[in-house]
Amino acid sequence: MTYQSPWMNDELHMFRKTVRRFIQEEFLPCQARWRQQRRPDADAWTQAGAAGLLLTDVPEEYGGGGGNIAHEAVIVEELARAGVHFGSLNQSILAHYILAYGTEEQKQNWLPRMARGELVGAIAMTEPGAGSDLQGIKTSAVRHDDCFMVNGSKTFITNGAHASIIGLAVKTDMSAPGLKGISVIIVEPRDVVGYSLGAPLEKIGMHGQDTCELFFDGVRVPIGNLLGPAEGNGFRQMMSQLPYERLMVAVSAVATSEEAVRMTTKYVKERRAFGAPLLDLQNTRFKMAECQTACRIGRIFLDDCIDSFLKGRLDATTAAMAKYWLTDCECHVLDECLQLHGGYGYSIEYPIARMWADSRVHRIYAGANEVMKEIIGCSL
Ligand SMILES: Cc1cc2nc3c(=O)[nH]c(=O)nc-3n(C[C@H](O)[C@H](O)[C@H](O)COP(=O)(O)OP(=O)(O)OC[C@H]3O[C@@H](n4cnc5c(N)ncnc54)[C@H](O)[C@@H]3O)c2cc1C
Repeated sequence: MTYQSPWMNDELHMFRKTVRRFIQEEFLPCQARWRQQRRPDADAWTQAGAAGLLLTDVPEEYGGGGGNIAHEAVIVEELARAGVHFGSLNQSILAHYILAYGTEEQKQNWLPRMARGELVGAIAMTEPGAGSDLQGIKTSAVRHDDCFMVNGSKTFITNGAHASIIGLAVKTDMSAPGLKGISVIIVEPRDVVGYSLGAPLEKIGMHGQDTCELFFDGVRVPIGNLLGPAEGNGFRQMMSQLPYERLMVAVSAVATSEEAVRMTTKYVKERRAFGAPLLDLQNTRFKMAECQTACRIGRIFLDDCIDSFLKGRLDATTAAMAKYWLTDCECHVLDECLQLHGGYGYSIEYPIARMWADSRVHRIYAGANEVMKEIIGCSL
């Protein structure tokens, strides 16, 4: 029954062991506190940086691990399996924007500090009036001498509370229609006049992950913090970075599904009803068989996508397929697994209940699954 992802190798197995040990020893014991305070501890970032868990797929010359997406996948998988919500992926997503569109000076300035966890990254696109439809972005960045003057707000921003470097989607040309006139600028918000943070948003899951509103009221950002050679490239930049983000959400979805099946299999072997383990009921065996099969099919599709990404061939449509199908599948598997836990599955004390609530957002963020279907549909 064992299946080995073809992209795994000896070096990645060793790396996985290190990541798993770090999460178990450093992050797992803090989970109750993270959930209660609605954010990770601030020093979790420098700890993760020192352990080599940040920016693993960024070149060493910029302080990164010099690896590739497989290293990031290992981290996302291990966090998912442990049920730990720590925004190292968002850190990597922002780093990829800087790598792709930053000048040499920008890369040297920001990436090494991000790799050490001294800077905590967030990527801020969503606004109260602009989620799926980024045409609605109203946060403005108007040139004023050697600065952009930024006004507006963002919502649902992962790592928002700790963020000390933000990739901010703004309108630099308010007169440009729709998706034109959008740019991405880098904001270092610490101790900046006009910047403020909302209280953590009360979500149904992922309680240990900070998700915040950000407010900009006349925040001055140096002109040199624009990403890309010219203004107005923001939408194109976002579209070309989103497949990476979507693939990584799919990685998390498959790892979460596999972990749910593993823990439910154990549970139905131990829990007894009608004088025998739950697994002796044919319905239980059939449900577990269905979930195990869904996980295997999902894993093989995911591995193919990772392989394509490693070869530089993952297109936006296939990334959308992976994001939509694997997260839909995850929610189905999680629901079946919760059902087999009975009332205990509805108790937040049980990991399956938390996984069920935590995973629901996978169908919404990084582009709602309906938007993914539009992308796929348009490609036909
Ligand atoms: C926990 C969490 C973390 C997040 N982290 C970040 C972050 O770090 N940075 C960031 O910028 N954003 C983040 N988001 C925001 C997230 O990306 C948006 O919530 C998402 O893009 C959907 O936007 P919306 O909430 O405005 O929903 P809307 O755009 O209002 O859409 C609502 C629903 O309408 C349907 N719909 C929308 N468009 C279409 C369509 N074209 N066709 C058919 N149906 C459609 C979908 O069912 C969708 O779920 C996060 C959200 C959550 C909940």
